[in-house]
Amino acid sequence: MSEKVIFGNINSKEAIELEERYGAHNYKPLSVVIAKGEGVYVWDPEGKRYYDFLSAYSALNQGHCHPKIIKALTEQAKILTLTSRAFFNNKLGEYEKYITEFFGYDMVLPMNTGAEGVETAIKLSRKWGYEKKGIKSDKARIIVCEGNFHGRTLGAISASTDPECTENFGPFLPGIVKIPYNNPEALEKVLEEQGKEVCAFLVEPIQGEAGVIVPDDGYLQKTFDICKRYNVLFVADEIQSGIGRTGRLLACDYEGVKPDILILGKAISGGVLPISAILANRDIMLVIKPGQHGSTFGGFPLACVVAKAALEVIKEEHLIENAERLGKIFREEMRRIDSPLIKLIRGKGLLNAAVIKPKDGVEAWDVCVKFAEKGLLCKPTHKHIIRFAPPLVITEPQLMDAIGIIKEVFCELH
Ligand SMILES: *Cc1c(COP(=O)(O)O)cnc(C)c1O
Repeated sequence: MSEKVIFGNINSKEAIELEERYGAHNYKPLSVVIAKGEGVYVWDPEGKRYYDFLSAYSALNQGHCHPKIIKALTEQAKILTLTSRAFFNNKLGEYEKYITEFFGYDMVLPMNTGAEGVETAIKLSRKWGYEKKGIKSDKARIIVCEGNFHGRTLGAISASTDPECTENFGPFLPGIVKIPYNNPEALEKVLEEQGKEVCAFLVEPIQGEAGVIVPDDGYLQKTFDICKRYNVLFVADEIQSGIGRTGRLLACDYEGVKPDILILGKAISGGVLPISAILANRDIMLVIKPGQHGSTFGGFPLACVVAKAALEVIKEEHLIENAERLGKIFREEMRRIDSPLIKLIRGKGLLNAAVIKPKDGVEAWDVCVKFAEKGLLCKPTHKHIIRFAPPLVITEPQLMDAIGIIKEVFCELH
């Protein structure tokens, strides 16, 4: 491979070799190297352009290197980046006011990664359980759903039912009860039996990593109502489904459900910095007192201006409306593809998936390799599912162009 390098100073082969040699092998990437990104596009070092249909697992809802977010980042980076929370800073309060009004909560607790957001929600729920609900010391339980993905920390994987995430990482956090997803009766049943000791129900309104599993209409409302009857907090992990991705600000908005604790991450920074947030009202949030929880970087000034700019972009560019409109077109067009490899198309807004029926040795991975060859990037999740989640800034002509690539690949594969 002696192609000329256009972006950066090493070619694809060299980049891959370096990662293989010096990096832990905790991922198995598709053999594509990304050297530059702009909007819905990325380029490899040799200058080949691709549509990004993964959007870093929905962290890039605002598209790659959004100019407004990058401007906020670079301007603030020259003034002040980190103070720690030992002192006040002049950007945190302004951001806190903005994000709480944006999502309609009294208060926010800023963290960095999504998994830390989940950890924070678990800690807050437990503390609330002891101090407000009156659960006996060390007895608090949290209910989670099978097939969930809440991150990679020990707390989060203690909730997991995926052996790949848990094998040989134990012992795990006690006090976690796992029930089937999309099954309100299962929730009712555990709460009937152990409701007095349950502090929270932690749920993804759509299970992203599980393969874009969309629960039945009414599931969120029903489970929310059940939680209320047993004085249990309804905690929504909207790290992937939130911030416009599904055609609403939050996926919970489809059913008018307002979580007691809302966990956000990913697109909160438009893919620029690891930023997460926990939102709740005062009666819940204030059970955590000074010194009881925190993070060196959580709420750092650089993050505050980036997150505020990233959320402004969602509103200013009508990305929620775009996700809803183009999502419908996407599913309609995809359902028209006549291929024995496609078993099912599902999703909401621009969070969609194709369930693949492996045929003649062709699996989801092979389909994604073909997509990449033709200039479209996505990755299989769980072997037979391909997730399609382009940045929400995608235009209709771009979407149709990308669907053209998808159609071509399915045609050639059979
Ligand atoms: C990505 C994700 C997380 C974990 O976020 P990290 O930033 O990778 O720690 C948690 N929950 C859901 C639903 C996610 O999609």
